[in-house]
Amino acid sequence: MSSIFPTYARWDVTVQKAEGAILIDTNEKEYLDFTSGIGVCNLGHNHPVVHQKVKEQLDQVWHVSNLFHIPTQEQAAQMLTEHSCGDYVFFCNSGAEGNEGAIKLARKYTGKWKIISFKQSFHGRTFGSMSATGQEKIHEGYGPLLPQFEYAVFNDIGSVKSLIDDKVAAVMIEVIQGEGGVHPADPQFMAELQQLCIDHDLLLIVDEVQTGIGRTGKAFAYEHYNLSPDIIVSAKGLGNGFPIGAVIGKEKLKEAFGPGSHGSTYGGNPLATAAACAVMSQVFQPEFLQEVELKGNYFKKLLNEKLTSSNFVKEIKGKGLMIGIECDGEVGTLITKMREKGFLALSAGPTVIRLLPPLTVTNEQLEQAATVLAEVL
Ligand SMILES: *Cc1c(COP(=O)(O)O)cnc(C)c1O
Repeated sequence: MSSIFPTYARWDVTVQKAEGAILIDTNEKEYLDFTSGIGVCNLGHNHPVVHQKVKEQLDQVWHVSNLFHIPTQEQAAQMLTEHSCGDYVFFCNSGAEGNEGAIKLARKYTGKWKIISFKQSFHGRTFGSMSATGQEKIHEGYGPLLPQFEYAVFNDIGSVKSLIDDKVAAVMIEVIQGEGGVHPADPQFMAELQQLCIDHDLLLIVDEVQTGIGRTGKAFAYEHYNLSPDIIVSAKGLGNGFPIGAVIGKEKLKEAFGPGSHGSTYGGNPLATAAACAVMSQVFQPEFLQEVELKGNYFKKLLNEKLTSSNFVKEIKGKGLMIGIECDGEVGTLITKMREKGFLALSAGPTVIRLLPPLTVTNEQLEQAATVLAEVL
């Protein structure tokens, strides 16, 4: 009997130990983990550099409020702005909270309320981020949403244009829709969207909660599209399992987030930002990012070779180590079958198998994964 609200359909697995891409459950069964805590443990479980940095911080000071200067927070902000087109950072504790901050910042800066997001998007579970999310199943039963969110069709520039009027503050987008099915944006569409934002003076908010921190072979996935977003939201991979989120914004937005305008008790806490600094010191190295790209290409090639004979597989998509296998039917029972064989994968919607291995995965582990996928599919 559990005393926890049944909001999650849990797997019948309890992890007792984790290292790299390997999980060991309480029955000593070993799993190859291609979920990484849903795109969180990008450096693998129990990464020594993150472990060491958090331990050092734990011995010094765990928490002080944002009434104090916090050196690891300054350092983490500097690393984020050095590796993005943003200039200032607000720290929070999750992806939803990051998007919430982005929505507030966009409304405050522009003095307008309306935000265009996309069908099949996912931005989180708080009222603002849920309202930005273009999926009815996420809204169900919660009554009126935050007003002034309108959903355009992903990769359809005409549908964005048709929603623009003089009340729009911003466009909010995932450059690769994650939860919605691993859908990458078209380069042409993204270029037109960027231009549209410039022409109509709209802020471009990129939700990089899942795609950021090296996942696609770049520090942030918007770099694949040569964009210059006004606001970037990061979370998941940023702490490698330590809860943290970040709103990264351009210089012009500074005044809108002045003293007292926004806040979070835990946001940018010493332990969380120590973890983030350790993560970025590894992931943002050019050689590391290049490796991710190479491994992603190798994995896609393996999957294309091994899965072409399956009529059930329609398309293999994604970038770097964020990969979706679009199938011709429901994938739930297949994912259970893989788990029984010791391989952990996710779904993204009913018909897509989503693979988010740690970025430190070895070629041998990619080969093992491709073999299990071929067997089950
Ligand atoms: C997971 C996710 C979120 C929500 O993050 P939480 O930390 O669960 O609040 C928001 N946006 C995207 C793109 C995500 O993948």
